Amino acid sequence: MNENNWLYIEPFVYICVNTQKALLYNTLNGKLIECLRGTKTYLLIKQLNDDKNLLVIKLPSNYQKNKEISGFVKNIREFYCGDVLTLPENATKPFQLKPIFNIQHDLKIMKESESVSVGTKIMQKLTSITIQINSICDLTCCDCCNYNRQFLFCTKKTSEELHLKLIKKILDNLGGSYIKAINVIGGNVFKYSKFDEFINILKVSNIVASFFIHYQNIIKCDKFINSLSNNEFSVNILVNFPIDIDKLKSAKHLLENNNINIKYIFIVESEKNCIFVENLINEMKIENNFTLLPFYNEKNLSFFCDNIFPERNDILDAKPEISNIYARQVINSNYYGKLMIMSSGDVFANLNEKKLGNINSGTLHEFAYKEMKSGNSWRKTRKNVKPCNQCIYKYLCPSISNYEYAIGKFNLCNII
Ligand code: SF4
Ligand code: SF4
Repeated sequence: MNENNWLYIEPFVYICVNTQKALLYNTLNGKLIECLRGTKTYLLIKQLNDDKNLLVIKLPSNYQKNKEISGFVKNIREFYCGDVLTLPENATKPFQLKPIFNIQHDLKIMKESESVSVGTKIMQKLTSITIQINSICDLTCCDCCNYNRQFLFCTKKTSEELHLKLIKKILDNLGGSYIKAINVIGGNVFKYSKFDEFINILKVSNIVASFFIHYQNIIKCDKFINSLSNNEFSVNILVNFPIDIDKLKSAKHLLENNNINIKYIFIVESEKNCIFVENLINEMKIENNFTLLPFYNEKNLSFFCDNIFPERNDILDAKPEISNIYARQVINSNYYGKLMIMSSGDVFANLNEKKLGNINSGTLHEFAYKEMKSGNSWRKTRKNVKPCNQCIYKYLCPSISNYEYAIGKFNLCNII
């Protein structure tokens, strides 16, 4: 009886083909098969990637005799990427279901309709809201305006404050979303002229708030700490170099004595900083509740090259889930669902891009809709930028972040 050999690929295997290479990547074990253009196996991967083939293709009847194809099948089996099914010639072609990411469907509907009402579901896309209640700060500790391009929190600029009525509006706007927690940043948030009223509004709205406060501002404004001792609030202590250890310890005690949940964010600019922090967290018995945040200060590119930019193996070892890889083809996972409202009222999806408008003259719903439909952040993927758009790893690589904007290039890798 005549038979067909069907090569099938598991749905958790990611396939990518460009003009130079084709790859199969097993997202469960991180194994990779790469083939160069011009080879038979490049063409087989290209066929597997064709939507109409549903991850299954027919192999030549004598494929076992072809060294290149049989070696390819052997690798596919060894790497648990798929297998060959031998079925009678008259049997129906098998198929696999490719995962589909919902946002593709949402974007299609939005593109086809001009009505904002189509975006009723848009509020459910919001995942994070950050409000900068003021930008006042007496410290002279840091290069604050630059921080802002990389990771938000502190910005000392003017005596600007986000009006309390606008804060109320933002909290009311959250009604249609799943958001139950917001980030609160400053300047020095304690210098907000109506700080107590702000805290009361948060309590009444049942909104959990994470404050981002520099450790020196915590001890300078200790009389306010008590108002944060509520289960609904937590404090991210910002620590930059040079660190005044005594002041940091005082800030720790103050917050701990008031039973406030704390997380430490250490802003590091060199390997030396990292080693210092490692010793400090041991000394201060800060166990799991800390993050190291590398800061690009325009002089430490080599620190980023050596420690932060990924090598090819780092990308493969990260084993992103297949759903995340599909998501990265249409959205930027660092920005998607996030909005920031600055003390001026200006609303951004990403501070490195143009503002979406001002909260005074729009709602969160309208800004989220605008960003989803025509913005440049939530959907900023590596296929939109050079040279990543030419790279075979473009969706295995993490989404573009603020570091790329700060450093001024998108291939923050040691690959291209
Ligand atoms: S604490 Fe923040 S706002 Fe104040 S000077 Fe330092 S970076 Fe700027
Ligand atoms: S060129 Fe871009 S997509 Fe490719 S590995 Fe580097 S950063 Fe990632």
